[in-house]
Amino acid sequence: MAEVTDVVVIGSGFSGICTAIQLKRAGRHDFVILEKADDIGGTWRDNTYPGCACDVPSHLYSFSFEPNPRWSRMFSSQDEIWQYLRHCVDAYGLAPHLRFGADVTGARFDEDSGRWRVDVNGLDAFDCRILVAGVGALHHPKIPDLPGLASFAGTTFHSARWRHDHDLTGRAVAVIGTGASSVQFVPQIAPRVARLDLYQRTPAWVTPKPDPPIAADRQQLYARRPATQRAMRSLLYWALEARGIGFTTTPKAMRLLEREARTHLHRQVADADLRARLTPHYQIGCKRVLLSDDFYPSLQRDNVHLVTEPISEVTPHGIGTVDGVQRDVDTIIFGTGFDVSANLVRLDLVGRGGRSLGDVWAEEGIGAHLGITVSGFPNLFLLLGPNTGLGHTSVVFMIESQARYVTRALDLMDSSGASTIEVRAEAQQRFVHRVQSRLDRTVWQSGCRSWYLDENGRNFTIWPHVTWRYWLRTRRPRPADFVLEERRAGSPQTAAM
Ligand code: NAP
Repeated sequence: MAEVTDVVVIGSGFSGICTAIQLKRAGRHDFVILEKADDIGGTWRDNTYPGCACDVPSHLYSFSFEPNPRWSRMFSSQDEIWQYLRHCVDAYGLAPHLRFGADVTGARFDEDSGRWRVDVNGLDAFDCRILVAGVGALHHPKIPDLPGLASFAGTTFHSARWRHDHDLTGRAVAVIGTGASSVQFVPQIAPRVARLDLYQRTPAWVTPKPDPPIAADRQQLYARRPATQRAMRSLLYWALEARGIGFTTTPKAMRLLEREARTHLHRQVADADLRARLTPHYQIGCKRVLLSDDFYPSLQRDNVHLVTEPISEVTPHGIGTVDGVQRDVDTIIFGTGFDVSANLVRLDLVGRGGRSLGDVWAEEGIGAHLGITVSGFPNLFLLLGPNTGLGHTSVVFMIESQARYVTRALDLMDSSGASTIEVRAEAQQRFVHRVQSRLDRTVWQSGCRSWYLDENGRNFTIWPHVTWRYWLRTRRPRPADFVLEERRAGSPQTAAM
């Protein structure tokens, strides 16, 4: 027997928690949050690598309606952010709605009842009116298909699945990748290992990370006078939005930022040859700009070697590069990022006509109206869906806009007596077309290879404007963009919790 509920939210990271809170704040209590793991937190539960922290200031990387006056630093650690999410679960009474160990294997829209059936591995299915997918984009680790990798006799793991049981002390370690994760854990492990070979395919632009501790008296001020913390949040928001103008409209305006990164490299790396190998040859901002004060110094340790020759093979005892050099190691750590297109497609969401989201996107290209709703998939809402990721500021801002939009869409359904809401194909196409043509002017299309782009160079990840425009656009759903169908007799009654 399927359990009947009004709303199913998949995932308990920032997206799922935010949606659940917004539902509660809107007086909607009939929902469950399905979480495949045994704890909440999403990215901030899974990424436990040494040095894991946010590279967006915490006053902004948190919900506007739930400020935390006790952030201990400007850029908080993984553990502190995870604690913050747990606090939100407690503060808004979400625990009774959470179902752990609930791995969603698929969901199917029933055209007769206008409801979703959500299948969960090992649990009863759920029968719901509304389905919200808050599954995050940076979730499925990407391990490169290196020749010989299966033959490696040592230990391998990905940064997002850190093997804390594997003591790195005194070991010879290879790290592959120099992205946002690697730049954080390499300085942490370098002093512990006997040798660290860091395999860099493309150098990243790195700028200083002004990460002072937040003094106790400042924390008290924020707690006693919340307006002061709101002012700090606004300051950070508008400073990053101002930078966003460069990312989204006039990449040439990024020269100041590039100068800052070059100066940082010059200050921190004295050796001209090493500096040359660490200097990117693409427009700053095209790939994520990294913030670090300890990455470059860690590369200059005697036991750390930057390897820039491409990898040719992995052997049972190490890694070979195209110049014929073989470097033996006993551990390989992949800081190689995530398979961003996989997450929603792997959910196996089946809409009208028995078509899955994966098939629709494979045939028509990845896209969703405002990154949230997809034609052919009534009553389905995606959080951080296509083209709503960011390169310049906090995605929590986008998540909040989307969660509010979901509750307003439910209000629209209620006020019009509809049982289903479905975005019109024309509205979706118009949005996708506008986003794609707007992207051409942005820094992300300036010629580098990044995870923002698919294999054809199409960008289906990034929002190409400043974020306040998204906030304005998602304030409430435009009825004209949707088909609202009337309530059917005989659809199951839902019970309030
Ligand atoms: P990433 O930024 O995608 O970096 C992956 C790295 O692996 C790149 O240097 C890439 O080189 C390299 N790589 C991939 N395949 C390779 C291969 N076959 N051979 C050699 N090198 C290879 O991954 P990430 O560092 O895990 O970060 C992913 C995203 O997570 C970030 O962009 C960011 O959005 C998020 N993140 C955020 C924070 C935060 O503080 N908020 C922290 C960590 C991560 P190429 O550049 O040549 O492709």
